[in-house]
Formats: sequence, structure tokens, C-alpha cells
Amino acid sequence: MAYKIDADTCISCGACAADCPVDAISEGDAAYVIDADTCIECGACAAACPVGAPAAE
Ligand code: SF4
Ligand code: SF4
Repeated sequence: MAYKIDADTCISCGACAADCPVDAISEGDAAYVIDADTCIECGACAAACPVGAPAAE
């Protein structure tokens, strides 16, 4: 289990990537994306996101 960003909700603000302690988040074509193998499920991205796009799968 890792966190996943809902691409239809993400507004590509970058706040989650700035707060991720393991640099698991990068900017994709349509939305920011989380590398599931790197994510440690800390929840910081969900706390930082203004639109509630990241959620635990
Ligand atoms: Fe990074 Fe934590 Fe979000 Fe995983 S849950 S992507 S480790 S901020
Ligand atoms: Fe997208 Fe939310 Fe991350 Fe901003 S904080 S890039 S809206 S997932």
C-alpha cells in the first residue's frame, strides 16, 4: 500500500512534493505522481494538498 494522487483532482501545485520526506513525488504530464516503491505512507502529502488529491490506496 502506498499513497496515490487522483489525477483528475490534482492542480499540480507542488506542495506535496515539497513536503515528502523521501522524494517519492514528481511532476507528471497531467498531475503529480507518487512512486509507490519509494512511498513510506507517512501522509504528509495528503496533509499538504489543498484539494485532497492524495489518498492511501
Ligand atoms: Fe511521500 Fe509520505 Fe506522501 Fe508517501 S505518504 S508520497 S512518503 S509524503
Ligand atoms: Fe497535486 Fe495536491 Fe500535490 Fe498540489 S499538493 S501537486 S494539488 S496532489
